[in-house]
Amino acid sequence: VEIVGAPIFNDTKNLKGAVLVFHDITELKRSEQTRKDFVANVSHELKTPMTSIRGFAETLLDGAMEEEELREQFLTIILNESQRLQTLVHDLLELSKLEHDELKLNRKLINISSLLDDILPIVSHQAQQKNITFNTTVKNTIEIVADPERLKQVFINLINNAINYTPNNGNISLSIETIDMFVRIIVSDNGIGISEESRDRIFERFYRVDKARSRNTGGTGLGLAIVKHIVEAHQGSIKVESKIDKGTTFCILLPKQ
Ligand code: ADP
Repeated sequence: VEIVGAPIFNDTKNLKGAVLVFHDITELKRSEQTRKDFVANVSHELKTPMTSIRGFAETLLDGAMEEEELREQFLTIILNESQRLQTLVHDLLELSKLEHDELKLNRKLINISSLLDDILPIVSHQAQQKNITFNTTVKNTIEIVADPERLKQVFINLINNAINYTPNNGNISLSIETIDMFVRIIVSDNGIGISEESRDRIFERFYRVDKARSRNTGGTGLGLAIVKHIVEAHQGSIKVESKIDKGTTFCILLPKQ
């Protein structure tokens, strides 16, 4: 609590009392803490790949370059880590635009099927590599007024997560249908699931249930925060249901107009 006080005097200039104003600054402190945590997280996430890039480049220059096997191995690490940095910076900029309402949605009438034509070949290929069965159901022709690039991002992030957090030979399904004035998108997997405590937090920036696992699969911990912002920018809503070791289902409702 922050207290601001002022004395009150009577006509003869004697102290009569005081006014005290109590400001509840809990919310202010909390958002300050969130901002500090965010900066600390960003620094840490950027530092890790940078340290690694620098270290391997130095080792190469110190002589490892002479050995063909090491050279290839170290250059591959440098390439992967720089790709990681690129994804991270891209996601951070994206999130920052979304959070500052700077992102102007480029809304137009789009056909969901043609949108999926751009995405499905990529994600199906990723699913195949883990021998995951990927089913898509699009009921009738679905049209929606939305930003096509942002909507693609939503699909890609959710499906990538479903693939990353589902063991080999699993099942993933994407189903899209119109319900009254809304389009409902459901992405469901039979993967590792999310505990009840974590479920409320997965939309926070950098929150990951298992940091090592997320990093190994190329995750930045920002994907769902971005998804939620995009959905809300379209006046939609997102919900998640999950059971540990049974699977996870994300359900999005977007107004058609
Ligand atoms: P990440 O880049 O780590 O995947 P996200 O913001 O996309 O970041 O997701 C946050 C966390 O939520 C993930 O690290 C993971 O722990 C959990 N998560 C997201 N999707 C799923 C899913 N389909 N199944 C299980 N856990 C998930």
